[in-house]
Amino acid sequence: MYPSLEGKVVVITGGATGIGKAMAERFGAEKAKVVINYFNEEQEANEIIKTIEKTGGIASAIQGDVTKEGDIKKIIAHAIDTFGSLDIMVNNAGIENEVPSEDLSLADWNKVISTNLTGQFLGCREAIDYMLNNNIKGSIINMSSVHQEIPWPHFVHYAASKGGVKLMTETLALEFAPHGIRVNCIAPGAIDTPINKEKFDDPELKKGVVELIPMGYIGKPEEIAACAVWLASSEASYVTGLTLFADGGMTQYPGFQAGKG
Ligand code: NAD
Repeated sequence: MYPSLEGKVVVITGGATGIGKAMAERFGAEKAKVVINYFNEEQEANEIIKTIEKTGGIASAIQGDVTKEGDIKKIIAHAIDTFGSLDIMVNNAGIENEVPSEDLSLADWNKVISTNLTGQFLGCREAIDYMLNNNIKGSIINMSSVHQEIPWPHFVHYAASKGGVKLMTETLALEFAPHGIRVNCIAPGAIDTPINKEKFDDPELKKGVVELIPMGYIGKPEEIAACAVWLASSEASYVTGLTLFADGGMTQYPGFQAGKG
């Protein structure tokens, strides 16, 4: 547990499902004040609030589309109106779809880039502006992916968006370090969430993914939430510009395992 998180106000985009849900519940258990941004999943968001409240925590939900500037402003205003501040911004909302690159439409390219990269930029910009104006030494956490490093055929828009998240994170970390605002990202490997449902429901496809993971299992959303609370806490007070890989070793060249190569 991280006592420094008690009473801190955290916004989590895409917070009603998967990794976002696990982070909301973990920040709630840490006694942070949690704002869950959801896209379509109002019922799921309300369930998470109930779970957090059962353990003595406090949370609120707000609908919003991270690709819309006005919605990001609305989400952050909701946090400030409801809980009086914004200390931690978690830009988590993201999407992917598989298309061979020669068939990838401009509409699909734009949709993934505007959700995964532009949406995270807007979240960073609005949070940083508030933190600067209110002298808050806040923490920003962006959700990247192992595909900020590992090329991913048929997902060129996704890989490009996450590569962008990496350098955006590092650039903002450098720019705002003098103000004590820390900007980091988490790069998960394969995690058991709705984004992977179709793939992991198929035993053959799932086996193919597990073979890429030296630790031999698909990660749990709670294992990513554990990274987020550490990064947001005072235990990580000297950490900025970091990509925290949580991938069971996926980025450590698994093809070379057991002396191969
Ligand atoms: P998920 O599908 O459960 O979560 C994504 C969330 O983003 C959903 O709640 C969805 O409603 C929301 N969202 C989508 N478009 C939105 C928009 N325009 N505005 C607001 N919210 C929107 O999947 P997840 O695995 O929990 O994904 C969370 C993040 O983790 C994503 O950024 C994803 O790229 C990243 N990630 C996931 C994995 C994995 O294996 N699950 C691996 C690496 C990175």
